[in-house]
Amino acid sequence: MGNTGKKVYILGAGATIAHSNNLFPDISNIFKKAFEEKITSIDKYRELAGFVQEHFGENINTNCVSINAEDVYTAIEIGLEFGIEQYIILKSQFIEILINLFSKLQEEMKRNNSEKSCYKKFLASQGIRENTVITFNWDIVLDDLLGRNLYIEPETKEEQCFDDNLGHYKNFYYTLTGHAVGTYEHISVGQPKLKGTPFASPKDVYLLKLHGSIDWKVCNNKGCRAYGLIFPMREPQEKFICSECLEDLNTLIVPPTLNKPVLQNPFIRRLWNFALNAISSADSLIIWGYSLPPTDFYAQWLLRKGAKNKNLKKIILINPDIDKEEFIQCFKTLFTEVQILKYSTYEDFAENQQA
Ligand SMILES: [Zn+2]
Repeated sequence: MGNTGKKVYILGAGATIAHSNNLFPDISNIFKKAFEEKITSIDKYRELAGFVQEHFGENINTNCVSINAEDVYTAIEIGLEFGIEQYIILKSQFIEILINLFSKLQEEMKRNNSEKSCYKKFLASQGIRENTVITFNWDIVLDDLLGRNLYIEPETKEEQCFDDNLGHYKNFYYTLTGHAVGTYEHISVGQPKLKGTPFASPKDVYLLKLHGSIDWKVCNNKGCRAYGLIFPMREPQEKFICSECLEDLNTLIVPPTLNKPVLQNPFIRRLWNFALNAISSADSLIIWGYSLPPTDFYAQWLLRKGAKNKNLKKIILINPDIDKEEFIQCFKTLFTEVQILKYSTYEDFAENQQA
């Protein structure tokens, strides 16, 4: 305690894009990349291709398709809200494309050794050990660098450049997932805490993925003991069933424009509450590769809460679009009272930290 300089890192797609040297696509280029990587083709995902053509006037089986994948996902979720049964297949096809694409790109990055060192520099930086990382990303590049595989299957010995002083994934895994329910320390429910209490110790740092993850599998059977619990699985492409009720598990990926999955899944709600707790006591927010889309109402709400926190002194924005007025404007309106520092790359930011 007595910890001055509490930071919270908030990461968006731009962080993985920078780390992967532009191999990973942004949200408008997911379908284009999926086509180029031969994840989608004319014979595969016919239903989804038909849906996108009909509702958005775009053909996903070309390399000039440019459509915001979040909009597509949101449209599918709304259809599901109205109980349109055909949309179940659209959702599963959309998620399958994401999982296959991100897994393939991550493999490719490893094989070619083409990753840039941004995430590694980030994980080696001084601030990271005692501070929580919030991310809106669905990919598992950072999770893997934080030792994801080692926690999911502790017996696997594989060489990893993983620093086990970084407790982010470990704390997430043992506190916020289905695994936590089975551990001794979680057998009894904790005592209520006074409102405004920050986390007990600076070591309680987490990786909080607020929009879900391609490797999170959940049981959606409301009557099941495992209902809603998050199970990160080592191979996201495999199909899993619930060991309690034997129903097929679903991948938990939250469409940013809709709040329903956030409210509906008590475990996602917990993640958001943890994020809120961290943001509410931080004195600086480092927002890397996240551009705060105007339709991402929940993220806006979270940051607005952060802006009201009296300890907050500065926000640091790291983004290649840093000089574009439309990028910076939404942050300026949100954070009126604090200093805003701007960097176009993580490297620029890191250099400046040492100076
Ligand atoms: Zn179940």
